[in-house]
Amino acid sequence: MLLISLSPPLTLAPLARIEELAGEQVTRVIQQTPQFDHARPFAQQARELVEALRLSAEEWQTLSLLVNLPGLASAAAALLAELHGRMGHFPAIVRLRSGAGSTPTQYEVAEIINLQALRESARIRDQGMWLEQQAKPNSAQRLCISCGEPIQRSQSYHWAGKGFRHDKCL
Ligand SMILES: [Zn+2]
Repeated sequence: MLLISLSPPLTLAPLARIEELAGEQVTRVIQQTPQFDHARPFAQQARELVEALRLSAEEWQTLSLLVNLPGLASAAAALLAELHGRMGHFPAIVRLRSGAGSTPTQYEVAEIINLQALRESARIRDQGMWLEQQAKPNSAQRLCISCGEPIQRSQSYHWAGKGFRHDKCL
């Protein structure tokens, strides 16, 4: 597993914990400690940072990788958008927390968050809520976002991001 750390460097102790949580060995670490410049657009800086990691298009799409994002939320969000574009899905990320009573503050790994799984489950929840609503006799008729025709319960359809669509209207 490749660990891309875009935060201050992790010491060896968190690495062992990451391997334990992921159930996979960290075989390579790429360390980049970004200094985001508030005078420049973050989208541009996120792109430059990801390009500086020098992974090929194939590597982005096939490597098992884990990302330690920077603490600055807007920088992390821009990086995630950039990474999603290259990988075709969200990466798993590391969540750190400060260890109890340590001075200076030492960070420990709290969990690994599988963002793609989170995204998929939100999508299924959405669809599940809609199906429940559809099952009620008085619920409003839903229209296909492609053809504009009502979706009948006998038809197959899917959630298409902004609304539902007949499978036949793909
Ligand atoms: Zn349709």
